[in-house]
Amino acid sequence: MNTLQSYAKGQWHTAADGFKTCHHAITGETVAHISSAGLDFAGMLDYGRDVGQKHLQKMTFHERSLMLKELALYLLSRKKEFYALSRATGATKIDSWIDIEGGIGTLFVYSGKGRREMPDHTVLIDGPPEHISKNGTFLGQHICTSLQGVAVHINAFNFPCWGMLEKLAPTLLAGVPAIVKPASDTAYLTELMFKAMIESGVLPPGSVQLICGSTGNLLDQLTCQDVVAFTGSASTGQYLKSKANITENAVRFTMEADSLNCSILTPDATPDTPEFDFFVKEVVKEMTVKSGQKCTAIRRAIVPASLIDPVGEAISARLAKITIGDPANEQVRMGALASKAQQQEVRERVAELQQSSHLIFGNPEHTEVIDANDQDGAFVSPILLRNDSPFDHCLAHDVEAFGPVSTLMPYERLEQAAELANMGQGSLVGSVFGHDDDNVAQVVMGAAAFHGRMVLINRHSAKESSGHGSPLPHLIHGGPGRAGGGEEMGGIRGVKHYMQRTALQGDPTTLMRITGKYMPGAQTTTTDKHPFQLHYEELAVGQSLTTAVRTITLEDIERFADLSGDHFYAHMDEEAAARNPFFDGRVAHGYFLVSMAAGLFVAPEEGPVLANYGLDDLRFTEPVYPGDDITVKLTCKQKSYRRGKGYGQQGFRSGP
Ligand code: NAP
Repeated sequence: MNTLQSYAKGQWHTAADGFKTCHHAITGETVAHISSAGLDFAGMLDYGRDVGQKHLQKMTFHERSLMLKELALYLLSRKKEFYALSRATGATKIDSWIDIEGGIGTLFVYSGKGRREMPDHTVLIDGPPEHISKNGTFLGQHICTSLQGVAVHINAFNFPCWGMLEKLAPTLLAGVPAIVKPASDTAYLTELMFKAMIESGVLPPGSVQLICGSTGNLLDQLTCQDVVAFTGSASTGQYLKSKANITENAVRFTMEADSLNCSILTPDATPDTPEFDFFVKEVVKEMTVKSGQKCTAIRRAIVPASLIDPVGEAISARLAKITIGDPANEQVRMGALASKAQQQEVRERVAELQQSSHLIFGNPEHTEVIDANDQDGAFVSPILLRNDSPFDHCLAHDVEAFGPVSTLMPYERLEQAAELANMGQGSLVGSVFGHDDDNVAQVVMGAAAFHGRMVLINRHSAKESSGHGSPLPHLIHGGPGRAGGGEEMGGIRGVKHYMQRTALQGDPTTLMRITGKYMPGAQTTTTDKHPFQLHYEELAVGQSLTTAVRTITLEDIERFADLSGDHFYAHMDEEAAARNPFFDGRVAHGYFLVSMAAGLFVAPEEGPVLANYGLDDLRFTEPVYPGDDITVKLTCKQKSYRRGKGYGQQGFRSGP
């Protein structure tokens, strides 16, 4: 008997009783038994808080980013094992690729973003300093620090690998330990990948724990420093979110729930346009990939009334070519649902939808399958329904059949397309297919407030488009209302869900000490050596150099105009410049001042400085006239070590 193990307090735990059975989605055979009986949930929380947090929070964002990369590389090296077991979930190779390599890809993206967009520090600065005092001695700065708790990740059954990794990447980058609880039906695949994660030796002790089976009394013991990130049905999510302990302690609860996502065809996308074809292909893809068990799948296809017949025919013709069965056979394009319980659930929901829609493709009760038995496996054929009065008969906006099921519905006027979209009561994603940008813009303005993500596809973007149903780590995944009201990923935004934002107010020098970044008005220091002669380790944030003075001349301006070709009147024509409301006469080029500043602060001889990486926040705020004296103060603003490269980056601040 394959008994799934949990990983608690740094040990593998095997339950003795209380088992449920996980079945093979294709053959119906037993794959594993699952139970969390005997787990010490309070002890797991303590272990995460004491051991996991201690290890993770002494690492900088860059060190955690590199840890994610190392983990991703390790998991990739073992991907064959995950693919082999993934078939038991009913997944085809493409479905498994989304789950396994899509999940690992999320680790890579967060690793890259963590190193590029976050400091080599443990404090994340949120936004610019706020100038809240007259003389600048009292400054405001928002910062984010790691929560001093544990993240509890409760995942849905449809993506046993991606579901775990897309939550772990931002959590670990935030420096917060996690307890992962996969959905029971497919937990065997999560357990396999989790075991590999532990075997990699990459993650510090206590940073991750696993519960295979129920969460027992875990949620009743969470505090305001813990986070629950839940993915699953709205009913379970609402039940857990309203638990007394969660509400009383204001425990953060991010919810990703079921959603009635839609795709809209605009009236310009007639059957002779590429947008019509893209739409048809996308609806079919979203119905059949993962057998429609994607939280982002297109449940409602909203089309102009004049196009509903050709759209229905085109989708049906494509669906007729979808081969269903055991994904081990390469001819098979669609596998099974994750379990017989899901098959039963989908059939019941389709029956409900049929109360106000009629079937135009598929058979809810029977599926033709290849290399498998329709009775043993959890197969459901693609089902296309049509609802001709979607404003009056609203079940399609309310009932989610979590399988290969979609409902086609017509609109007469374009504004009705957005109204129908919004009748889903808040969705993860909506897509718009059309070439007329005015039409597309009208739909987006009408529907964006009800959607977490909108994908706009036309002939120019289709080829490179990531598609309607793919959440990307760079962009937010979540949606308002029925979709749970939460947000995940979204690049570094997702990391902040596991951190506390605090508004610091104080002396700029104190704020510089805390954040590791120079703050306007902070005390600076000087060294005997020129900053260009200091090695990375010798440079300190706040060290500065004040240069010699240079007087700007008319000749400078004219020579720079000739050299650059910039003969803008404000530099060249005294009278015209004086008519400009900003100037009293000819002014120096801003770009000349920047170049001249380099001439003042650069130490020319070969030394530790390798290159100038570029300029941020460059502004030309004051006019500089011939005869003005300019001096430059160069201050080390921030340091960032490029690990593994043998060099670092320093941000310098220079100003007159
Ligand atoms: P579910 O029944 O709500 O279960 C979701 C998770 O909650 C599972 O891990 C489940 O564990 C756990 N759970 C259930 N009762 C619990 C309790 N009392 N205490 C603690 N944990 C509990 O949903 P599902 O059937 O697995 O997933 C399908 C649904 O998820 C669909 O409606 C789909 O739309 C939605 N979904 C949404 C997203 C999204 O990102 N928005 C993604 C995927 C799926 P057990 O399995 O052990 O019961």
